[in-house]
Amino acid sequence: MNNHFTRTLVTTALPYANGPVHLGHLAGVYLPADIYVRFKRLQGENIIHIGGSDEHGVPITITADRESISPRDVVDRYHHRNLEAFAKCGISFDHYGRTSSQLHFRTAQEFFREINGKDILVKKKERHFFDPETKRFLSDRYVTGTCPICSNPEANGDQCEQCGTHLSPRELINPRSKLSNRVPELRETLHWYFPLGRFQGELENYVNGHSGDWRTNVLNYTRTWFKQGLTDRAITRDLHWGIPVPAQGDEAKGKVLYVWFDAVLGYISFTREWAEKQGSPDLWRKYWQSPDCRIIHFIGKDNVVFHTIMFPAILLAWNEGRKNDVYSLADNVPASEFMNFEGRKFSKSRNYAVYLGEFLEKFPADTLRYTIAMNYPENKDSDFSWADFQNRTNGELADTLGNFIKRSIDFTNAKFDGEIPYECTEDDWATLGIDWAGSFDKLEQAYGQFHFRDAAALTMQIARSANRFLTDSEPWKMLKTDREAAARTIALSVNLCYTLAVICYPVIPHTANRIYTMLGFQESFDDMVKSGKVRWDMASFPQLHKGHKLLKRSEILFRKIEDGDIAPELEKIERILAGIRRAEDDGTREEMHFKPEISSDDFFKVDLRVATVTGCEKVAKADKLLKLRLKVGSENRQVLAGIAQSYSPEFVIGKNVILVANLAEKKIKGELSQGMVLAVEGNDGRFNLVEVNGSEIDGKIIQ
Ligand SMILES: [Zn+2]
Repeated sequence: MNNHFTRTLVTTALPYANGPVHLGHLAGVYLPADIYVRFKRLQGENIIHIGGSDEHGVPITITADRESISPRDVVDRYHHRNLEAFAKCGISFDHYGRTSSQLHFRTAQEFFREINGKDILVKKKERHFFDPETKRFLSDRYVTGTCPICSNPEANGDQCEQCGTHLSPRELINPRSKLSNRVPELRETLHWYFPLGRFQGELENYVNGHSGDWRTNVLNYTRTWFKQGLTDRAITRDLHWGIPVPAQGDEAKGKVLYVWFDAVLGYISFTREWAEKQGSPDLWRKYWQSPDCRIIHFIGKDNVVFHTIMFPAILLAWNEGRKNDVYSLADNVPASEFMNFEGRKFSKSRNYAVYLGEFLEKFPADTLRYTIAMNYPENKDSDFSWADFQNRTNGELADTLGNFIKRSIDFTNAKFDGEIPYECTEDDWATLGIDWAGSFDKLEQAYGQFHFRDAAALTMQIARSANRFLTDSEPWKMLKTDREAAARTIALSVNLCYTLAVICYPVIPHTANRIYTMLGFQESFDDMVKSGKVRWDMASFPQLHKGHKLLKRSEILFRKIEDGDIAPELEKIERILAGIRRAEDDGTREEMHFKPEISSDDFFKVDLRVATVTGCEKVAKADKLLKLRLKVGSENRQVLAGIAQSYSPEFVIGKNVILVANLAEKKIKGELSQGMVLAVEGNDGRFNLVEVNGSEIDGKIIQ
């Protein structure tokens, strides 16, 4: 880890402007980033937080098609909704941009031109799925079909939501176009590829240089890719929504930059927009092109390789052969694990989620921020549950922190006319029995190394100590016998309120602000942090002197959450879960009718062999049949199979299938069939081939 940085740039993964942000996103990316940024601001560091909406990509055009509105309408809607929810939650971006902005188009096209101009990109003609009805090439998300891994009949062409496997459209069984529901055809089209392999050596050096300070999950995900060997990745798509490919001639017509190439560059465009807003258009270079700046990408674990391999590779390609305008690579990529919801994965498609905007209409932001910080999925998946949310809000925020602050301030207002009645010395402070030096060391380490759960827990521990100090000192009793001692106790308590406001600010900033108001400060906490009037190191010794006047009004910081408040939420989950269970049952609860028993001798009469499909064509006047040429060891066979509704012929070639090799020959529709291949009937009545994994295994016996 370098310590020579004078500036920090924090970026957060760009949420797709195709749906509302949910609590899982908040827990993995935005809240940890905000906590980190607020902590560093308190320490007086030069730090900016850059985020924004990812407004390209196929899910957006799919939503637009479905709702018969334009993609622009879709992104406008979710950009504003998410921005509003983030603001309400206190996620303090310095700039929140949009990848549909002109400056971003320019930036992304500049990168393409620079890299293409150096002949780094590779042009390839490839066959892609094409919808014959709508006459459009189908990007991966426009193709749906059955997952080859878990048989989910509605897997997307890029990923199966049920089992999480990354797929390519041609791996799907029964591929269908989402536009017309037709079986797509394969057609030739030209695309630009980024040769990741060319940068593998440099990337490995870069990642190995961080083996001491990056999270294990980040190193492991990345190294798995290195082990497999980096290959060419397409960076263009046949699509009408996105950034046009800036290449000459007809070949770029109708093509846009693929969203993985475009979106990560948004971090740079948005920093440029921020710099323009500061009235200093070149200021962004001090963050992206200076060794003095530490760059940190906050992301979820599903985005690791985009930030440790692909984005750095783009920057290396830009830097190649350059002496000026050289980009720096990220210093850290703290990727989180996932936060589940009541023990299950969030699922947007099943509506099994709590959306940030909706949540904040019912409950205050800080109760959510605190509960999530205490469950931050740092190195393993964690869980958000309503019961935990209720317990933490009531027991920790209300009964401990809130109770202490209110008692201290009310007592001062009632018995000392809202004025600090005693000048606390460092010696008085030491008698509190709190190990300040040790605690601050631990807190600084926790924040600096992204251990936000530890930081929140340590903060609550200090609040507990403060609460105990006030309870045990009993100033309300002392007041009658020893007013000076009571004054000392209450002065210490109110100073502890100040300290708690500072140290809880990164996690619960709204609360810090409210405590400050009650303590008699008129300026907002955020402004005081910005102007340096309040700093982290001020929290470790008394700041409020004898005679300091409080607001003389107090408020309840945290209202307790009653069972009745969360009952509707629990009922809602039950309804959704019941629906999911019904859907799952419908798929499985079919009564099983087995055929009459046979002996093992009977079974072994059947000769099952692995066969490789070497050729395939349609059969004239038979719309369900495909004619397969099979290689079975040294023999070749021709077999007819009723799978034409599931596969285009070219899709079957190369598959390893299971052949019933000793079945009597017969003629079907005038064609000879020498055996039978095994297939499974799907819920839709179409047949999918049973496949065997492995290479050069044709002819092997299956038993
Ligand atoms: Zn699957």
